[in-house]
Amino acid sequence: MLTALNEKNELVSLIQFSSREQLHCIHATSSFICSSCRSPVILKVGKIKTPHFAHRSRKNCPSSSEGETDNHLKGKKSLYLWLQSIGLNPEVEQVYQQIGRRADIAVHTGDQEYAIEFQCSPISSKVMLERSKDYYSLNIIPVWILSYEALQLSASGIIKFTEFHQQFLRYSETLKQYFLLSYSSEKNIFIIIYLISPISKHSFIVTVEHVLHQSFPFPKFPLTAISLNTDHVGSYILYREKWIVSRFKYNQGHKDHFLRKLYEEQETILLNPPWNGLPLCSNTYFVTHSCEWQTYLYLHMKKEKALTKERLLAHFIQLIKQKIIETRQLQINGSIDYAVKSVSEWLKMMELCHVVTKQGKMYFINDNCMKHKVETVEKRDEAVKNFMNKYMNDIINLYNAR
Ligand SMILES: [Zn+2]
Repeated sequence: MLTALNEKNELVSLIQFSSREQLHCIHATSSFICSSCRSPVILKVGKIKTPHFAHRSRKNCPSSSEGETDNHLKGKKSLYLWLQSIGLNPEVEQVYQQIGRRADIAVHTGDQEYAIEFQCSPISSKVMLERSKDYYSLNIIPVWILSYEALQLSASGIIKFTEFHQQFLRYSETLKQYFLLSYSSEKNIFIIIYLISPISKHSFIVTVEHVLHQSFPFPKFPLTAISLNTDHVGSYILYREKWIVSRFKYNQGHKDHFLRKLYEEQETILLNPPWNGLPLCSNTYFVTHSCEWQTYLYLHMKKEKALTKERLLAHFIQLIKQKIIETRQLQINGSIDYAVKSVSEWLKMMELCHVVTKQGKMYFINDNCMKHKVETVEKRDEAVKNFMNKYMNDIINLYNAR
């Protein structure tokens, strides 16, 4: 903790002390208690870790953050200084006795109070939801910021998001896409992650933007409309092809619903047409790979020959209910019907790529696509390349149009 009460019952914040000498001095002359549970705490001024208070014994503090990492202490401190620098009056470690919570930082703008939680260590979605609910019960809006240091981003722009990280994905109505807000306490910068394209259950191709502290307003974050580009799509397709090969190699035989379905329709995964598994905004909704859920839609259209959007949607929802298509646990905003959005986006894409034609209310697979056959695995590479050359711009334009 960065705050505690002194003998005079005054709240002492360590943020206001800049030198270690000052800290050693108050360490020698004052005693402190926790502002939440009022049990004794010790001021720790070491060589490595940010100076902080720790409970003498850890019993029953409702808002104890014992074992607090240095990353967390530093983050709280620099986020506090950031809010102050943009003209707000933040409070570090604000205690709310009614709900037994201590927000990392509390801040007001106008009539609205916000509780900022800088999250470094994994917590379950249940705990996160409960905390949020408690804040909302006091009309406080919780703002969750993930520690950038808790993320693993590779040089190639691939990021691993565990279930914990995925809880921080937020939907922007303006951008019509998910983004993730993180903060680096090492570098004092905000890192916003955009264009989140899943390539497997936990791996994503992303685009990252760094925004300096000083220029970052609150509470409205400065989101940038970053466009999908050919590099992103190229990389996405490369990973899709890898996924197809490994899906083929490690198949579970007849227990594998997807491969069985392909077999029944006289298709095989290695010779799947190149338009199954394109980068769509909707891909983020699903744990199931884009190649898989898009192929299910394609096979159904092919089988039915002519179909309305409503009938295709009904089939899609059925597959989701049966857990054949698995959705991601996202903060899916009530106003978005992700299944409707996914089917609409897919149909639009298929029309653009001349796979599907719409006549009145009916959708058909085009004749040349019905007969389309990739003959050998070697020829698939070529088919993918030709298809991407032909439709790269349409794919990018549709994604960016949202
Ligand atoms: Zn306490």
